Amino acid sequence: MPDVDCFSCQRNEVEPAELPPRERILIGAGWRVAHAVTAAMPGWLVVVSRRHVLSWAELTAAEAAEFGLVTWRLSRALAAALGAQKTYVACFCEASGFEHLHVHIVPRAPDLPAHERGPAVFGYLRGPEHDRVPTVEMDRLAALLTAHLPEV
Ligand SMILES: [Zn+2]
Repeated sequence: MPDVDCFSCQRNEVEPAELPPRERILIGAGWRVAHAVTAAMPGWLVVVSRRHVLSWAELTAAEAAEFGLVTWRLSRALAAALGAQKTYVACFCEASGFEHLHVHIVPRAPDLPAHERGPAVFGYLRGPEHDRVPTVEMDRLAALLTAHLPEV
């Protein structure tokens, strides 16, 4: 059941065709991929469970298997479209109001400074609002990434 107070559930309830491109980069049976709203790094994605679950243990086997393919497809697209050398995959779901299961997929550029690598990359989510990727750019990146998703 969707949780009416949950941001992810509210967005999941919108018809996919009515979502902006940045919120429907990939939509599968169990997962929806969006550009991270507060990211100061172009291509920082979030893979959101389409059901209101709070833990990996609540997923079905099919949802868990689908997650692997989604992550692989996004990694290929981020490498091909944005030149990511690797992708970081991180899941905490600890922020108040954001406990709904979601996974950060971060394109690690070849020239990301050493002091910003690893968990320090989360500084890109905490910066001032004026550093964030503009929504029009998120939509452009979304179309680019969708076009680069490999088929399965
Ligand atoms: Zn939810």
